[in-house]
Amino acid sequence: MKSIILLSGGLDSVVALAATKEKYNIQLGITFDYGQKSAAKEIKASEEIAKYYSVSHKVIKLDWLKEITKTSLVSESELPTDNLGTKESAEQVWVPNRNGLFLNIAASFADADGYDYIIYGANKDEGKTFPDNTEEFREKVTKVFESSTLHKPKVLAPLINYSKSDIVRVALDLGVPLELIQSCYDSKVKHCGVCESCRHLKNALKENHCEQYIEILFGK
Ligand SMILES: [Zn+2]
Repeated sequence: MKSIILLSGGLDSVVALAATKEKYNIQLGITFDYGQKSAAKEIKASEEIAKYYSVSHKVIKLDWLKEITKTSLVSESELPTDNLGTKESAEQVWVPNRNGLFLNIAASFADADGYDYIIYGANKDEGKTFPDNTEEFREKVTKVFESSTLHKPKVLAPLINYSKSDIVRVALDLGVPLELIQSCYDSKVKHCGVCESCRHLKNALKENHCEQYIEILFGK
């Protein structure tokens, strides 16, 4: 048995890797570059994480996805910092069919090279606003692979019932090197501290009394 992980370098994908690496024999991490502002930082963090956990790493470029994505994750427009957690802010950072596309690309690798599981970092908080972070989606996409592939890889989302705060707790239990993660949507500094992703991470670290990581990642 062997598995693939979708690796963005952010908290969720890194903890999903740490939690399933041994049990599911993860051998390959795939990172996607679709022209998102944080692409260079995500690739660098993912490379370091893959090295740390001794898995092979591949970066796949999807230039066309940038062209059809209008949201602020890739465009010149400012990232939302208000009304976070609402439908409006979710739409501002939505990339068309992102997880559906990424999982399908991973399924081609799985079908070609005999990987049995594809693991990704869907979580409970994002499942509230993003339909591709839900159990319903995970089940359906697994079902599709039963027909669209010969090897029939299963999709796993080990953190799907975990909140951001729960995920930080799991990270601490597993000794995940949180200093290596990259969760910010922006391109400029390592962690801007004000985008939706940064705020969720910072709150979750606070709830787990991780002042040392807040200082490393956010500078204060
Ligand atoms: Zn940020």
